[in-house]
Amino acid sequence: MSENGMIQKVDLYQIWEQEKFSQILPFKEYIFDMLIHLNIVSEQRRYDTKTGSRLQIENFFVPCMLTQRNETDYLTQECTPERTLSLAFVFKGTIIPPALPNRLICACLSMWTLKQYHGRKLMFSGFIGLSFDKEHDIVVCVEGNKIVLHLVHKRSKGLIIPDIATGVRDCLFVTLERISEFYQSSIHCKASSKLPFHTEYSCSKLNCFISENKMASDTEECICEHGENIKNSWSIWNKKREHKQCDANCPGLSEDALSQIPSDKELLRLSVNCETRMLHDLALHLGMRETVWGDMEYNYPGNAQLVKFFTLMHLKENDEITFTELDNGLREMEITPHTLCVVRQRKQVKSSIPDDILDCIPSDEIVDRLAPLIGKIVFQLGIELGLSVEEIETIKEKCDRDLPVQTKELLFTWRKDRTVKPTLRVLEQVFVDIGKGARCLKEVVKDVDPNTLKEVEIVTGNSI
Ligand SMILES: [Zn+2]
Ligand SMILES: [Zn+2]
Ligand SMILES: [Zn+2]
Repeated sequence: MSENGMIQKVDLYQIWEQEKFSQILPFKEYIFDMLIHLNIVSEQRRYDTKTGSRLQIENFFVPCMLTQRNETDYLTQECTPERTLSLAFVFKGTIIPPALPNRLICACLSMWTLKQYHGRKLMFSGFIGLSFDKEHDIVVCVEGNKIVLHLVHKRSKGLIIPDIATGVRDCLFVTLERISEFYQSSIHCKASSKLPFHTEYSCSKLNCFISENKMASDTEECICEHGENIKNSWSIWNKKREHKQCDANCPGLSEDALSQIPSDKELLRLSVNCETRMLHDLALHLGMRETVWGDMEYNYPGNAQLVKFFTLMHLKENDEITFTELDNGLREMEITPHTLCVVRQRKQVKSSIPDDILDCIPSDEIVDRLAPLIGKIVFQLGIELGLSVEEIETIKEKCDRDLPVQTKELLFTWRKDRTVKPTLRVLEQVFVDIGKGARCLKEVVKDVDPNTLKEVEIVTGNSI
């Protein structure tokens, strides 16, 4: 068994092949089910978010093997008030049945990538740290009768994307709901319709929680004892899906967010959302020279998209602009500063690709078939996938203007980095975000069998 308490069913059966287990081998299926029923072994049980049906389980987790407490400094170093939003699922009574968080940890492992922190995997007794993407980390930990969820942004909590926060909360809520239903039905015989937990939201102290019931009304503020309006963080965890733009009470970027240097990805999103003329005027207003703009147009002829993006990159590289300079510039030009809010927005994917395929890493074959369909968006794709401008330029140089080859190389480079599992789901979101749409992806995977795809992951060492 691996030291993190994970085991596959086949491994366990292999152990039972030994002579001293010969008596139980004929009943291996039954005994395995029994171990699960007794929560000695826990399933990485997961559900298809669209159909609600159960997905196939490969990994099993043996919670009792995971006894070590979290002794890393992750909570004090990374999970800071400036960068973290927190909520808690609070259970009735003083403690939570221990098997429940273990099952929750199992579910988390199947949804997100286990985080490595200073070379250590963040999985301990009642504590798990996960990478949602390169900017957002998730921490789930048990504290008394609470299961606390922290969402940690790399730079500032003011830059947390509300769609991500809402998606993560939804996922955990649904999972917890199902696990609780199971316990209620097995322990009390008849399940009561009421959930055994409710949600509470924290202020920036991260340990001051207020119940969701108090957020019910649409306008009222909800001030905690530290004078913070909890409604602000509540609205990030509960973003209304239909809202594409800022709503009437959008406060804009927070002070802390404004003080940050924008990431390449944020500048790309901003450039997509700005008119070429407006961006030109803004850049000049912020001190860029007209000749630089001229050079940009010369370097990227007929590609306004790249001219805009590299103009913003120029301001970042040369003038070290933060969001504050952009915000001031927009205000002085009498353009709404909500222009910047686009960096916290993410397009919603209406996927028709099954979840078990989306959870897989694209095989070489998929990449080969996908590359020619992508077209002239190598830079946008690379930036959204988290590659640096230098990496993308090297790829373009190396592949000598052969577009499909460039795209293929780009996708392979992205696939190599395992800080976040490079799944088809990540790719789908990126295609939607850059306005390409996911139709090409759907076309390529339509005949793919998820089991074959998983086999390929294992055989090629593609799996985590
Ligand atoms: Zn408070
Ligand atoms: Zn000009
Ligand atoms: Zn706004």
